[in-house]
Amino acid sequence: MSATQHLGEVRHNWTVKEVNALFELPFNDLMFYAQSVHRQHFNANEVQVSTLLSIKTGACPEDCKYCSQSARYKTDIEKEKLLEVEKVLEAAKAAKAQGSTRFCMGAAWRNPKERDMPYVTKMVKEVKALGLETCMTLGMLDNDQAHQLKEAGLDYYNHNLDTSPEHYNQIITTRSYQDRLDTLTNVRDAGMKVCSGGILGLGEKATDRSSLLAQLANLSPQPESVPINMLVKIEGTPLSNVDDLDNFDFIRSIAVARIMMPKSHVRLSAGRDAMNEQMQSLCFLAGANSIFFGCKLLTAGNPETNQDVILFKKLGINTETVDSIEDEATQAKLKTAIVDQENKDLFYNAAQ
Ligand code: SF4
Repeated sequence: MSATQHLGEVRHNWTVKEVNALFELPFNDLMFYAQSVHRQHFNANEVQVSTLLSIKTGACPEDCKYCSQSARYKTDIEKEKLLEVEKVLEAAKAAKAQGSTRFCMGAAWRNPKERDMPYVTKMVKEVKALGLETCMTLGMLDNDQAHQLKEAGLDYYNHNLDTSPEHYNQIITTRSYQDRLDTLTNVRDAGMKVCSGGILGLGEKATDRSSLLAQLANLSPQPESVPINMLVKIEGTPLSNVDDLDNFDFIRSIAVARIMMPKSHVRLSAGRDAMNEQMQSLCFLAGANSIFFGCKLLTAGNPETNQDVILFKKLGINTETVDSIEDEATQAKLKTAIVDQENKDLFYNAAQ
């Protein structure tokens, strides 16, 4: 089958060869296809906004070679214990006041321990009660933990595949690719939405990027949210001196992800801090329709919220409203929150 046949359909039988063919399209053709697919399923001028808070920082036993939080590398990260629920709620309220509709909480763990579960489930319940969608990333989850989080009201669970199965052992040795897929299965089985993507610029080959995207797109159902990260090189980690990824390869990856996962939110994620406005704009044109607001993305930098607002204004982009949220009570709360925002400096509605 030609890779551009049935554009806009959700498929779970992508081959790496087909994905390579998409990457090899002339740039303008690829952008046109990606934008056409994007418009079949989304308002092309809306971007969903999430906020990410690190609820436990550093001292992670895993060996992910890009990560400042691994205890195995000497980085200048400040370790923090699990945040108190009150502090998390303060951050969630601030995120909501800045127009975020989803609040993501991340902990640098291999997996949550049983003693952690009462705290994290309490966080989920209380953040959710503010009228925000909730997402967590806590490492590997077993079936029972996934059900506990679902019962607490967690909407999304993030667990990235990171890279292709072929390149994976160069990046992480303390958990297997299959462990990652098993966590995603547990999240799905518990009834939560899946957020899963990868990191580009890990020294992978072009075909590894195709292979990663094929893994993600062939998950059935496809992840609702697909973060595409550009490596943020951190001094002290084994990947601190890896060659830079060409910006066009990154933009092409966003466009190919958009074509392969037409109904998913593709999130322009870590690494955005180092991208100028034009680069970010090309990523939006390629079909990225989700970002993190806030100046700290776990431990890497992220553009100040008001810079994002200025860029959105230049591009006529609105932050996504809550119509995609199925639960009516949550929708109503979020709508009220957004109306409350309309007179505040940080809110811009290009439709008015
Ligand atoms: S990416 Fe996650 S699991 Fe890997 S070292 Fe960093 S915090 Fe630990």
